[in-house]
Amino acid sequence: MTDKYGFTTTILHSDRQKTIEHGSLHKPVHTSVTFAYSDARQLAEVFQGKQPGYRYGRQGNPTVSALEDQITKMEDGYATICFATGMAAIGALVQGLLREGDHVVSSAFLFGNTNSLWQTVTAQGTQVAMVDATDVAQVEAALTPATRLVFVETIANPRTQIADLKRIGELCRERGILFVVDNTMTSPYLFRPKSVGAGLVINSLTKSIGGHGDALGGALTDTGLYDWSRFPNIIDTYKRFPQVQWGMAQVRAKSLRDFGAALGPEAAHHIAIGAETMALRMERSSSNALALAQMLEADPRIAAVYYPGLKSHPQHALATELFRAYSYLFSFELKPGTDCFDYLNRLKLAISTSNLGDTRTLVIPVAHTIFYEMGAERRAAMGIADSLIRVSVGIEDTADLLADFKQALDA
Ligand SMILES: *Cc1c(COP(=O)(O)O)cnc(C)c1O
Repeated sequence: MTDKYGFTTTILHSDRQKTIEHGSLHKPVHTSVTFAYSDARQLAEVFQGKQPGYRYGRQGNPTVSALEDQITKMEDGYATICFATGMAAIGALVQGLLREGDHVVSSAFLFGNTNSLWQTVTAQGTQVAMVDATDVAQVEAALTPATRLVFVETIANPRTQIADLKRIGELCRERGILFVVDNTMTSPYLFRPKSVGAGLVINSLTKSIGGHGDALGGALTDTGLYDWSRFPNIIDTYKRFPQVQWGMAQVRAKSLRDFGAALGPEAAHHIAIGAETMALRMERSSSNALALAQMLEADPRIAAVYYPGLKSHPQHALATELFRAYSYLFSFELKPGTDCFDYLNRLKLAISTSNLGDTRTLVIPVAHTIFYEMGAERRAAMGIADSLIRVSVGIEDTADLLADFKQALDA
């Protein structure tokens, strides 16, 4: 980001820093699959990376590039590659940067599908050590000479554990290990992983950045901090670029080009429009979440509330130090004997569904849905009670939300 303007000003005006097409304030949606040159020599130079330009939509598109630039600014990064979904962005790490025999240290408190991805990767010959990343000592103890990256989320969904981000960043810097942070739950407005030494940052654009539940997307941002000469898996072909570009050059070719999970231009357009109001939405949904979590924690009919904004949260001090606000996600358990399905059905505003970071408040009974497939044993290990309800708080008027969650308890 520039030091001259604030977060939202910078994002709102980012498209105008490059050529404006026909005076269009929004970056136009370029649907062309291929990009032509009147001089065939120019086409060859674009293919050879000797001059910038687009060639085929799977590897790059002007509408998607404009969004990539926006996200790079949000994360104060060096470069960004967008993908069709957040999972495709995480998968790109595996496809583009890991080899058989490599080792990954990952937080055990993970988005369910990332947890499933690590199982797939393990079956393909990469070892993944799952540790309690709220404690840097556990991360350090799991490192081996084959460890290629450490992967954590900022605030874990649904129990809101917060990784020991600063100390893990220091550890990775000392050891020359790539530190990858999934910033989806905080968003680049509340937290920049670059500030704790992350080399790569993941964002699911489907969540708070797009923010309206109308487009899927994912992004991988290189912060420019990691020294790619220390990464053993860079193929010689990509070492012809300046060193800072090695990682992204390889990911763009080996992941995006070879596996093809490209973000479509229409989705990029939706996400870019959503991004303009991301900071406003994060402030409103975070203050709504704090008010709701405080109300529920004070209610004797609630067994537990998990939210980093509460003083009872184990990493409350760390969250206060690192994040601009505590974000929109919390979860809570009802007292035994209360049926979580009955409670959810009594809510009039909050909607029973998956997804996060929507403008509307969304609720889901975790153990019976998103964490069903992993089984009771793994759920118990992850602290997922049968009555646990996850709430992704929206931007509704605060009083209306408080009244809705209260009337559902009273009923
Ligand atoms: C949703 C989510 C993802 C995956 O994003 P999709 O766009 O749904 O593929 C990854 N990480 C976290 C933390 C998420 O919440």
